[in-house]
Amino acid sequence: MPNGVFQIPIPQNEPIYSYAPGSPERAELKRALDEARSRQIEIPMIINGKPVLTDKKIAIHPPHDLEHTLGYYFKGGKEVVEDAIAAALDARHAWQAMSWEQRASIFLKAADLLAGPYRQKMNAATMLGQSKNPFQSEIDAVCELVDFLRFNVYYMQEIYELQPESVDGLWNRMDYRPLEGFILAVSPFNFTSIGGNLPTAPAMLGNTVVWKPAHTQIYSAHVFMEILLEAGLPDGVINMVFTEGAVTGNTCLEHPDFAGLHFTGSYGTFAYLWKKIGANLDRYKVFPRIVGETGGKDFILVHPSADVEAVATAMVRGAFEYQGQKCSAASRAYIPQSLWPAVKELLIRDLKEIKVGPVEDFSNFMNAVIDEHAFKNITSYIDRAKSDGQEILFGGHYDSSKGYFIDPTVVVVNDPKYVTMEEEIFGPVLSVYVYPDAEWKETLKLVDETSPYGLTGAVFAQSRDAIIEAKEYLYQAAGNFYINDKPTGAVVNQQPFGGARKSGTNDKAGSMWNLIRWVSPRSMKETFDPPKDFRYPFMEEE
Ligand code: NAD
Repeated sequence: MPNGVFQIPIPQNEPIYSYAPGSPERAELKRALDEARSRQIEIPMIINGKPVLTDKKIAIHPPHDLEHTLGYYFKGGKEVVEDAIAAALDARHAWQAMSWEQRASIFLKAADLLAGPYRQKMNAATMLGQSKNPFQSEIDAVCELVDFLRFNVYYMQEIYELQPESVDGLWNRMDYRPLEGFILAVSPFNFTSIGGNLPTAPAMLGNTVVWKPAHTQIYSAHVFMEILLEAGLPDGVINMVFTEGAVTGNTCLEHPDFAGLHFTGSYGTFAYLWKKIGANLDRYKVFPRIVGETGGKDFILVHPSADVEAVATAMVRGAFEYQGQKCSAASRAYIPQSLWPAVKELLIRDLKEIKVGPVEDFSNFMNAVIDEHAFKNITSYIDRAKSDGQEILFGGHYDSSKGYFIDPTVVVVNDPKYVTMEEEIFGPVLSVYVYPDAEWKETLKLVDETSPYGLTGAVFAQSRDAIIEAKEYLYQAAGNFYINDKPTGAVVNQQPFGGARKSGTNDKAGSMWNLIRWVSPRSMKETFDPPKDFRYPFMEEE
């Protein structure tokens, strides 16, 4: 074992490349896109470090170009999940016995591979597979994932450094054990970085994992798995399976060695899994850890003192980047009557400039939504708003003939509790309620009570009193609260991310608070000169 108290290099956020015309990264990215489009790849599951194929091949198409086939993935059933669990359990002892700085090195190396030689391969996979523009892919699939890897190992060290006091004659120590059993990581389609973070955060602390990415994120998940294996991740530590969600969910949650769930996705899926865990509790050897980040109905609340240009820009970026498919996307805005004409004018001016189309054309700010199910769901809200007589201020048009394209859509509602102000739509639809200036306080109440979620929210005001009032009144309304900024774009180590209420367990991805959930500390007390007489002084005769 090593002799030395090692220090993880102090991490910095990964710089974001601009992809401006003439930049070397733009040329490299275009080459990577051409290369990915020029061939069809076959994507296996990875169990115990080995590729697993089945006879069920599923085609992968870019959401913005349905005629094109990027490749195929192999889909499995219950047996592959059982194999993945067995592999995770077999790998457990060697992995937890590996010294922590060796585990850390593997993830630091993975970060360097992603930031360097794999950068454009990963961007191409995310852009084509999930329909992200170059900037949206760069901030997610590269920068955020690199940050998760580098900062998480740093937080791991900080956790290990937390040691108790000792008094004369003894030494107290804390030993941060991994959980006893395997972890199930279930990730969503919309962030490649979350796909990477959910299995690696528990793994770096010595846990072994079964990872089920969303089927619409498999292309980029495959690139990440390639990176992990090249970085030296031992066989069986992270096992990636492609199945129906419920097949992986039910198989893992019925297993006696299930020790924890690391989930990001919709409220409905998380609630289902939580209930399953409750129903299976008697089967388990431990009380499993449950960490889940779910949906949002994120607000922009504007005070009459706000700067209208800042408001309009936050509405455009906050609501429509990545087609509004961010848990943090602004999806309801409350604008005072006095500012509405100016905000409306700027909003329409900017939205007219937004181009919607394929990712290969870099002038497109928006691309396609992820799949047919999402397309139908989002457009059903637009149709409903039209037929319910809500004003469609902008957009409202959609077309799935070549890809799942939906124009940025702004609905001005006549009822602040209208369905599009309440439910998560997860698409490019922003609902606006225009309130009488005198009703600021009533509007605070509306913001707080209209949706069951509590993920992100922003207040725009120049008045400090209004900022203080909003901060206090909306105390539980958002786990990530923004003042004069859009409610999206949290950065690892700067704005640890997560919300409460129906938005999840708020364990703050990209922080020590998340990692702490994947350890089970053992307190150790060593006494150097143990007592050899059971009697205490008070028992002696006067
Ligand atoms: P989803 O709930 O449909 O799917 C998430 C994952 O769960 C997928 O891998 C899916 O296959 C799997 N799954 C579905 N049913 C399952 C079951 N019965 N057992 C086990 N796994 C099952 O979500 P999505 O559409 O991929 O992602 C969008 C949702 O994720 C939105 O609600 C969004 O707000 C949320 N999200 C939240 C955050 C956050 O940090 N709060 C971040 C990203 C996305």
